[in-house]
Amino acid sequence: MVELTLFQKIILREVPAEILYEDTDVISFKDINPQAPFHALVCPKEPIKMLSEASSEHQNVLGNLLLIGSQVAKRAGFEKSFRAVINNGDSAGQTVFHLHLHILAGRSFTWPPG
Ligand code: 5GP
Repeated sequence: MVELTLFQKIILREVPAEILYEDTDVISFKDINPQAPFHALVCPKEPIKMLSEASSEHQNVLGNLLLIGSQVAKRAGFEKSFRAVINNGDSAGQTVFHLHLHILAGRSFTWPPG
């Protein structure tokens, strides 16, 4: 039996989360360990492991992640400035292997990221 990802458990309401947005393909919820005053995650319901494993069949859902991420930031009052991040793989900082977009806002960000 395939183990569900943490984010699939959130989608199934087996793990609680503050859900900000949901449709048939995408869910967004607050990060449990926020790195900014506003920190949301946006993920496809299909458990694609990481961005590098996505293919052309995922084109729509990948586009939706960005559009919904922007909408989630806007709804929280951060339409002018936010950071959108995808960590792909261990050394990039990925810890949950179910593709997700981070939306961070409410403070200034530096570049390059750490
Ligand atoms: P990654 O490091 O894979 O890019 O991001 C994973 C994110 O998931 C982290 O920012 C982490 O704080 C968040 N996270 C881990 N466990 C939970 C959880 O149980 N609930 C929520 N809402 N976020 C989580």
